Amino acid sequence: MATTASVYRNGNYSRNSLGTNNNKVERPPSVNSNPKNSLKSKSLRKSAPAALGAAKDDTGVPGRVRVAVRLRPRNAEERVADADFPDCVELQPEVKRLKLRKNNWDSDTYEFDELLTEFASQKRVYEVVAKPVVESVLDGYNGTVMAYGQTGTGKTYTLGQLGEEDTAARGIMVRAMEDILADVSLETNSVSMSYLQLYMETIQDLLNPTNDNISIVEDPKSGDVSLPGATLVEIRNQQSFVDLLRLGEVHRFAANTKLNAESSRSHAILMVHVKRSVRGRDSVLSSENGDNSLMVKSLKPPIVRKGKLVIVDLAGSERIDKSGSEGHTLEEAKSINLSLSALGKCINALAENSAHVPVRDSKLTRLLRDSFGGTARTSLVITIGPSPRHRGETASTIMFGQRAMKVENMLKLKEEFDYKSLSRRLDQQLHKFIAEHERQQKAFEDEIKRVTLEAQNQISESERNYADALEKDKTNYQKEYMESIKKLEDKWMMNQQKHAGGENIPGLKDESSNAISNGKGSRVANMEELAEMKKKLQKETLLRKAAEGEVNILKSQLAGLKKSEALAKSDVSKLQKMLEDEACQKEKLEGEIATLQSQLLQISFEADETARRIDKGGSEEVLGGLDSLMLQVRQPQINDSGNGEKAPIAKLFEQVGLQKILSLLEAEDADVRIHAVKVVANLAAEETNQEKIVEAGGLKSLLMLLRSSEDETIYRVAAGAIANLAMNETNQELIMAQGGIHLLSMTAGNAKDPQTLRMIAGAIANLCGNDKLQMKLRSEGGIKALLGMVRCRHPDVLAQVARGIANFAKCESRASTQGTKTGRSLLIEDGVLPWIVQNANNEASPIRRHIELALCHLAQHEVNAKDMISGGALRELVRVSRDCSREDTRTLAHRTLTSSPTFQAEMRRLRIDH
Ligand code: ADP
Ligand code: MG
Repeated sequence: MATTASVYRNGNYSRNSLGTNNNKVERPPSVNSNPKNSLKSKSLRKSAPAALGAAKDDTGVPGRVRVAVRLRPRNAEERVADADFPDCVELQPEVKRLKLRKNNWDSDTYEFDELLTEFASQKRVYEVVAKPVVESVLDGYNGTVMAYGQTGTGKTYTLGQLGEEDTAARGIMVRAMEDILADVSLETNSVSMSYLQLYMETIQDLLNPTNDNISIVEDPKSGDVSLPGATLVEIRNQQSFVDLLRLGEVHRFAANTKLNAESSRSHAILMVHVKRSVRGRDSVLSSENGDNSLMVKSLKPPIVRKGKLVIVDLAGSERIDKSGSEGHTLEEAKSINLSLSALGKCINALAENSAHVPVRDSKLTRLLRDSFGGTARTSLVITIGPSPRHRGETASTIMFGQRAMKVENMLKLKEEFDYKSLSRRLDQQLHKFIAEHERQQKAFEDEIKRVTLEAQNQISESERNYADALEKDKTNYQKEYMESIKKLEDKWMMNQQKHAGGENIPGLKDESSNAISNGKGSRVANMEELAEMKKKLQKETLLRKAAEGEVNILKSQLAGLKKSEALAKSDVSKLQKMLEDEACQKEKLEGEIATLQSQLLQISFEADETARRIDKGGSEEVLGGLDSLMLQVRQPQINDSGNGEKAPIAKLFEQVGLQKILSLLEAEDADVRIHAVKVVANLAAEETNQEKIVEAGGLKSLLMLLRSSEDETIYRVAAGAIANLAMNETNQELIMAQGGIHLLSMTAGNAKDPQTLRMIAGAIANLCGNDKLQMKLRSEGGIKALLGMVRCRHPDVLAQVARGIANFAKCESRASTQGTKTGRSLLIEDGVLPWIVQNANNEASPIRRHIELALCHLAQHEVNAKDMISGGALRELVRVSRDCSREDTRTLAHRTLTSSPTFQAEMRRLRIDH
């Protein structure tokens, strides 16, 4: 075989492939060998912009399985049996989301690559699901298209419909061959097919029934998978292909009859091999640039490009659960689903990028080894039915599809690890910070004490010194002064005595005798004495001045000390200010950390959930953060995983604390607020949390949010939480007491989003069912608010309004019967009757059902009869009594009509038989 271009061999992608190696000829997708084909391929591609496998792969991971969901329309049986119930799923193709209804209130949302509603044409399904795969096969890759779903949901319709009566009904197999034959020239290329059935791990040839145990051969080097024993038929034209498919169907039927099996137990596998030769594609590229390339072209060896398209109509997915429960033999039970569950396991392993992909576990996975994931394009179409009776089956099919969208899951898992460690690190930092802060605070306080004490000591020591010195100086001066005075006195006395001639004073005697003896001499002596005294006085003055100077110095020293004390004090207050700032900063940081932690927790729940589900080998879905929390809240049993880990809700309470979560409802950051209210709403969905939330003031905070917020998301989520809390009677009273009706009405007036209105209407509808609150609810405008919301025509909103009215009518009727209420119905007073009459025959069954009940309740009391007749309600009542699909309602309407004289008279007047 001329697979010569070994340089193009691609080993890079083998990690993502079911196989270990892939020896397909690889080439850049933008380069085409054949101008004719190139054009064709391009036009083919353009036709399916949102195609599985094509659009996103440019940026995505190679080999990601593209998953589309197809919803089958209701069949005749379902149109009758499920008439009163809504579909269990709602498809939102514009946003590629699917909602799986849980109950009237809630649904889980899943994203898929493509959503095909019950109206999707076979053409559209082909273009979205299979066309990109077919294009890849024509480019030389392997490709797989598989249909997975419960029996009867349309797998065979999607893949195998031949469309001979109605060409528009042609399925994927037929359309794929049309595209293949249009793209290859059969003179130089070849297209061949095998058609097989895999039943109980045995491969049978649907083109040659005697061939009933075909073995799988794998080329150990290239990893290519082949079935040498299977009939391989060369396709000449479209008709021969269709004939072969039909022949295969006949043989399948016969084989199954022989084995006493139905087709839903087996897998049907179509393999189409496309082999085409391609000449020197590189030269085509360069030939535009000059003649030289023509030389190159002729030197290039031809390349044979082989592609294999595998189309698998899988066994009914219900077989996964039901094997063994339907009287199968042990052997059957073991092997019927082996392939299907092995496929699931391989998908999980690929999703986790696990080192081991258990390909060898089943024939199906061995067969798909070289054509699933990796460089092979793989499309999975998940088929589901609308019936709420098969909700469980539908849910598990959806989960299978979610797991198949594997690569994103992988990314999430990695994130989970990062977030966890980040959370831990933040935690550690917080603790370190707290400890450091405490240490600093202590050091500051000690320092302040020390400085203050030192300053005080210094001051008192200075004061003491100063006082001592002052005292000492004072005593000295006093002493000196006294001494001087005494000396002067003595001298003065002596002088006196001298002048008086007294000689009994020896001290003066000489001087006076001298003076006497020398008349001029005594005067001189006196003068000298005076001068000396003057000198002494001067000295004394000097001394005093010196003392005063010293006192001044001491005083200035004291002032200096006082100043330094003041400085120390200002330092202290500066330090205190710094401490306060830091405390403030710390508080802010703690708040931020709490917010982060709560966000991180959310993310880790999500990641936990993903990891746990994948670990479990995945019989459940992978959900988004809130969805996962919801699920955990609603299904606490899942949390008892026995691995010793606490349930996330408990974790949330413990680690973040309800109080903190509630406090985040008032956070400044709008995102945090929205996040917090979502968490609270999820918590409020669980009955056991409701009491705690109300106790912690959560209800008040939620009502507050309605008052203060202007954000639609907050309105919606808060109203949802209130609606959940309003299911409980005590809470209903609390809501009313806290002005809830007024707030809900106000929010209803401002809200535009139907989902917000649905939540508000749901909350009021719950309040309407409380006997004690009837009067208050009405007087505060509750009924008017309900009626106001019908401006939004969304059926979900209308259903809640109708439920509220029915609840109110029921309570009112009870009160009338008990005699606690007289007079016309308040519903009639508030003008609800025209809307009731208008919608009594609404095509949406939840709306109709509630209104029918409301009509019956109103009609039970004669006081309402006249208004009902003039408002046209009698006609509707009569219709209910005849046509209502629910027997109890029919009987109730009938009884009501018969027992009312006013209605009877009017019916006689109008000649209505009853
Ligand atoms: P499965 O192969 O999954 O068991 P089938 O393809 O046999 O289911 O479909 C069951 C029935 O539903 C068939 O009668 C089929 O024609 C019908 N059906 C399935 N899908 C559609 C659809 N999208 N539109 C109309 N009819 C459908
Ligand atoms: Mg089928």
